[in-house]
Amino acid sequence: MNNNNPLLVLTYHAIDDRSAVISVSPEKFRWQMRQLTALGMKGISLAQAFAHLEQTGCYPPDAAVLTFDDGYLSVLEHALPVMAEHDFSATVFLVTSMMGMNAVQARAAHPDFDRGLLDWDQAETLVRAGLEVGSHTVSHPDLRCVSPCALEQELEQSKTLLEQRLQLRVDALAYPYGHFNAEVLATTSRYYRRACTTRLGRCGRQSDPWQLNRVDTYYLQHPKRFLKLLEGRLEGWLQFRQHLRDLKNLAGRAAPKGPTTKATEARKPERKIDHL
Ligand SMILES: [Zn+2]
Repeated sequence: MNNNNPLLVLTYHAIDDRSAVISVSPEKFRWQMRQLTALGMKGISLAQAFAHLEQTGCYPPDAAVLTFDDGYLSVLEHALPVMAEHDFSATVFLVTSMMGMNAVQARAAHPDFDRGLLDWDQAETLVRAGLEVGSHTVSHPDLRCVSPCALEQELEQSKTLLEQRLQLRVDALAYPYGHFNAEVLATTSRYYRRACTTRLGRCGRQSDPWQLNRVDTYYLQHPKRFLKLLEGRLEGWLQFRQHLRDLKNLAGRAAPKGPTTKATEARKPERKIDHL
C-alpha cells in the first residue's frame, strides 16, 4: 500500500442533459462510474475517506470521493441508482433553506438555482442508501460577503437543522462558490471537521482539512481526460489550470470595479468555468 497516496475528490452538481457547466449527463455519469469499477476503484464519501485516514494513517487506496453540491433532485433520480449498482457511496451537500423547492421556486429564491431540489424525505432516502450528508449553508451566499452574525448562522443553523431532521452527524461543509477567507475558515473549523473548496487538485495527508481540493467534473467531460485523472496522469494539467485561475483572480482583483454590485459579483462565479 502506498502511504502517500493522495485523495481524489470529484465534484458533481446536477445529473441532467442540459448543456450547463453544472450538468453531467446521466449517460456520462453512468460511464464514469463504470470506469471507476473497471479500474478496481470505489466511489466513497468524505467521511469514509477520513475514517480510513484516521485508522490507518493514509487515505484509502483505489478510491475516489464523490461529492454533489447544491442538493439537486437529479442526484436521487439519476446518480443514486447507478451508485447503488456499483455499491458506491458519496457526500451530498444540501442548502437547507431551499429543500424541496421546484425549479420555479428555486429560481425565485436564488438567481443561481433553476432546478428542482431534494426535499427532506428524499434526503432521508439518500441517507438510508448509505450516502453522507454535508452542509452547503442555509442560503448559499458567498460567505466572504456576509456579516459575522450571518456567517455564524449560515454555518451553525444549517448543520443543526440537517442533524435534527436527518438524525445524523454533519461533519462536512462545501463553501458556496468555493469561496472563503480567514474569518470563514475560523468559524467553519468551530462547527465542522472538514470543508471542501473548488481548488483544483488532490488532497495530501497534510492538507488543511478545511481547505480540501477537489476536481470539478466539468473539466472531465472528455472521456480520455477522466481516465487520465483516475490513472494519476493529469496532475500537471490540474496544476496548470489552477495556476491560470489564480492569475485570472489576481487580474480580476487588480482591475477597476464597474457598477456591478457586490452581491451580483458574488453570485456569478459558480456558473463560470474558472470558478468551478
Ligand atoms: Zn453550490
